[in-house]
Amino acid sequence: MTRSILAVMPESKRYDIIIAGAGLSGLSLAWHLVRENYKGQILLIDNSFAPNNHKTWCFWGKKDHPFANIAHRIWKKSHFSALDFSSELSLKEHLYFCVKESDYKETILKTLQKASNVDFLEESILDFSSNSSKAALITKDSNTYLAEFIFQSIFMPSHYDPNARKYPLIQHFLGIEIKTDEKVFDKKTFTLMDVDSDFNDGFAFMYVLPIKKNRALVEYTIFSANPLKKKQYKKKIRNYLEEKYGLTKENYSIKRKEYGEIPMDDRPHTPLYSSRIINLGTVGGFTKPSTGYTFSRVHKYSKKCAQALVKGVIPPIPTASSYRFRYYDLLLLRVLATNVPDSRKIFRSLFKNSPIDRIFKFLSEETNFLEDLMVLASCYYPPFLRALTVHPPLITQFDKKHLAPSKHKELKEDYFEDFEQIPNSIAEDSLQDSEEGSDDIIQQARLNETVS
Ligand SMILES: Cc1cc2nc3c(=O)[nH]c(=O)nc-3n(C[C@H](O)[C@H](O)[C@H](O)COP(=O)(O)OP(=O)(O)OC[C@H]3O[C@@H](n4cnc5c(N)ncnc54)[C@H](O)[C@@H]3O)c2cc1C
Repeated sequence: MTRSILAVMPESKRYDIIIAGAGLSGLSLAWHLVRENYKGQILLIDNSFAPNNHKTWCFWGKKDHPFANIAHRIWKKSHFSALDFSSELSLKEHLYFCVKESDYKETILKTLQKASNVDFLEESILDFSSNSSKAALITKDSNTYLAEFIFQSIFMPSHYDPNARKYPLIQHFLGIEIKTDEKVFDKKTFTLMDVDSDFNDGFAFMYVLPIKKNRALVEYTIFSANPLKKKQYKKKIRNYLEEKYGLTKENYSIKRKEYGEIPMDDRPHTPLYSSRIINLGTVGGFTKPSTGYTFSRVHKYSKKCAQALVKGVIPPIPTASSYRFRYYDLLLLRVLATNVPDSRKIFRSLFKNSPIDRIFKFLSEETNFLEDLMVLASCYYPPFLRALTVHPPLITQFDKKHLAPSKHKELKEDYFEDFEQIPNSIAEDSLQDSEEGSDDIIQQARLNETVS
């Protein structure tokens, strides 16, 4: 049976803002809007608001960071090691924070639930569309919602072409959180990188976050084109725990695992999905290509965006990093993709010769040009000189088309008719879901009050 979705059109609910996806970036925007006292009606949609612990988010910041109070752990000292260099690095201007995904979500959702202008909806989104005056989304349950603007962190923009990347790298990692019988970890010092000199199919390192003396997240991370088999990461971690801490499998239990593949994309993603639909988070290109760090960049934009919306102005279009930082990233990506031994030498020299606070400031793209030169001059430079000849400074072009919305279906009155052709299985599933599924809507009553 195929159901006409046109039938639900008159029931479309209208909001000022829809935030599609309540992960890192969607929650960040909602949180900043509430903090800035935004008065418009907001709808937050995700296919699940259930707390989970698939990720921990780490980032550096100042001690008054707004998420300092929910940090699972905060460090002031870091360990770095590569080739013949191994050192403890003290952070003077920054702290390194680790926030659990579940704590982040719970804290923000609690704040949002107290706001009278935020509705929550637990449904799976099927598609978006927009025209010059409104944006719309349709869910798998065939419900439609309209808004002035939609912010989405779910779908890659349609014209994003992975093959257009100059260097097809990903940061892939598997981590295990272990509890040990003995107190073996120094909980005051996290290991930012313990570079693996034996692995040549990518630049690889161990990342260790000690939560307690007998508990730590130990992660094997690689920058390369393709992920490994899970058992390969696990074997690396097992060997590392044995060599570094004298731990065999019998000495610890695994409490949690996390796996990730983060794009290291030299091509910025498009900030607009279509007119009035703005991309957030990883699909919006907020992930720094050379590091994978996303958290702080997402919050920086959300704050700026919320402040604009409170003033009643059009939300700012997320901008790409400035030319010079994109260029530095590109040079490093080239070295990482083409020469693993040189990559090790670059990281070794960087952490040996530059203070970690300056490195963090540089990675946050907050350094001035003189500071950039100081960081770059501290690195082993021959591979960069070779990269300069392939990508000459100032001449190297970055795709500017990314500022235009992707060519996506325009919202017109009969737009939702297109969805009459949803395959039977989905239509039947969603019909069944909507018959059984009133529980899916967390605040159905409030939602119903909203007039289209
Ligand atoms: C394991 C892991 C660890 C990471 N650690 C760090 C870190 O330490 N520091 C850092 O800065 N970055 C880190 N990152 C990178 C980045 O911060 C995260 O990937 C981050 O979650 C990206 O945020 P986002 O909002 O783009 O996507 P997400 O947080 O994934 O949010 C997307 C949301 O959309 C929802 N959704 C998806 N499809 C649908 C649909 N069809 N309908 C309705 N809802 C849908 C999902 O349920 C989800 O809640 C990590 C990434 C991974 C994978």
